[in-house]
Amino acid sequence: MPEEICSYDVRCRTCHTLFKVQLFESHEKNLFLADKKDWYCEKCKKEYFSKQTEKLTRAQQAIGLPELKGSQKMVSWAVKIRAELMNKADYLKESPKFENDDERELSGKAFERFFREWQGKTDAKWWIDRRKMSVQDISKRVEEISESIKKK
Ligand SMILES: [Zn+2]
Repeated sequence: MPEEICSYDVRCRTCHTLFKVQLFESHEKNLFLADKKDWYCEKCKKEYFSKQTEKLTRAQQAIGLPELKGSQKMVSWAVKIRAELMNKADYLKESPKFENDDERELSGKAFERFFREWQGKTDAKWWIDRRKMSVQDISKRVEEISESIKKK
């Protein structure tokens, strides 16, 4: 009867539906977890994620980023990644080290072009593929854009 041992009834915090969860600690610890943890049923979890996704998408649209395309799961992941990447890019933009006004202007233009690139990416997968992008990676890309502007 091992199934009976590790299956516990818990109640969803949001809709109060009873459902079963599998727990794999000691029986005592399982009882404690079943009682104390905040449980959410699959339906409420999905709703929560789609609400979060909607919220993030709206916030990003407000700063000029388009709605993303892809499966619900991918989009909900991608908007989170995009929020993190935007934070990194903003951080980079706000930590200037300019020698003169020309450099400042060039940096401004490069970032503008860089953000325009991002604004064109509507595929959730594109963002998921870049989830490991670091501040250094972003800096490198902005640098490349700066160089291409300088050449003109
Ligand atoms: Zn629920």
